[in-house]
Amino acid sequence: MHAIVVGGGIGGLATAIGLGRRGWDVTVLERQPQLGAIGAGLSLWPNALRALDRLGIGAAVESAGGRMPERSGMRAADGRYLSRVDLTGHRLVVVHRADLHEILAGALPPSVTVRTGVEVADVDALDADLIVGADGIRSRVRAHCFPNVGIRDSGQVSWRAIVPDLPITSGGETVGPRGWRFGAAPTGRGVYWYVAAPGPLRTGSAEEQLEELRERLKGWHDPIGRLLAATDPAALLHHPLQDLHPVAPMRSGDRVALVGDAAHAMTPNLGQGACQALEDAVTLAALAPDLGRYAALREPRVRRIVERSWQMGRLVGAKGRLTGAVVRTAARLLPDRLAASSALAVTEWEPPAPATPAGAPR
Ligand SMILES: Cc1cc2nc3c(=O)[nH]c(=O)nc-3n(C[C@H](O)[C@H](O)[C@H](O)COP(=O)(O)OP(=O)(O)OC[C@H]3O[C@@H](n4cnc5c(N)ncnc54)[C@H](O)[C@@H]3O)c2cc1C
Repeated sequence: MHAIVVGGGIGGLATAIGLGRRGWDVTVLERQPQLGAIGAGLSLWPNALRALDRLGIGAAVESAGGRMPERSGMRAADGRYLSRVDLTGHRLVVVHRADLHEILAGALPPSVTVRTGVEVADVDALDADLIVGADGIRSRVRAHCFPNVGIRDSGQVSWRAIVPDLPITSGGETVGPRGWRFGAAPTGRGVYWYVAAPGPLRTGSAEEQLEELRERLKGWHDPIGRLLAATDPAALLHHPLQDLHPVAPMRSGDRVALVGDAAHAMTPNLGQGACQALEDAVTLAALAPDLGRYAALREPRVRRIVERSWQMGRLVGAKGRLTGAVVRTAARLLPDRLAASSALAVTEWEPPAPATPAGAPR
């Protein structure tokens, strides 16, 4: 059985590993001239690490990443903890995107062929037993099958960067006035930080944007100022925060499946986009060619997570003074145990058992 995977990002490579390990011949088509990822950090929660375990690379990713400090939580701009989350005993790693990519690419079995520099334009021209659209938020495969799914703009934007060599001892998110937020965590190659704030997307140079961030977040607790001061403008990434609305169906007929952002790009408020792409990948690999079971298992879960992430962004990113104050008070009144369980609730997931040999390819 032959599968074509369109897109060699996190979801596409993970799907190719999973299908290849189950005996499929797989061709990955990636439009970039080479495999690899630019980007900053990614938080991988226990659900993602279980998916990576299934692909045989959970331990490698964990050792390439940084551990979140065990005492984490939501803080106010002056550094007071509004709610604390104790992560002791939970697997949670923050990894440089390029490291995750490299480990995924290194784990591709010999039955997988990767063709780079190939941009799929005509989905009808693809001929295989299974076609997997893993081509991100602007997916051609999805647009071909489900043209009514549109991109929804949250009105918020993000900045991200990695700062090498500046150790930090605390992690989590800080919520300040007027919808501005800052988060930081150690990765295997420096500290990853992000800012989320009301739009629009800035058009000035990276230097001007960094200057705006330093000005806006002046007086926020340590190490925010030091991280911004140490950031190389060339490392700064700036994007709008968007999701797909409605979430796309995850299969079209018996031959086409969607994974990752192609089906359910989400705002990053729960740090679950790539985690869900990894869940999709191992679920599809376990159940293919039964796309009906794949979609039935995945769709309700991702729909809930996309919506929860959206709502979370509306709350903590609210521009209004009053809403911001209400959020900060609610977070302060929330018992720590409840804060921890709500952060970890979406991570309770186990990979499905592979289909019986009769349903599996040769
Ligand atoms: C600010 C921000 C912070 C985030 N933080 C986190 C986090 O902490 N944790 C987390 O789990 N997730 C996070 N995410 C989400 C995560 O980045 C995505 O969910 C994840 O990258 C999706 O992977 P994917 O493989 O589905 O898509 P992509 O990474 O977009 O990969 C798609 C691939 O397909 C290729 N492609 C596209 N079109 C074609 C075509 N026509 N032909 C051939 N190839 C094509 C592209 O070149 C690309 O390589 C964050 C996202 C943002 C924006």
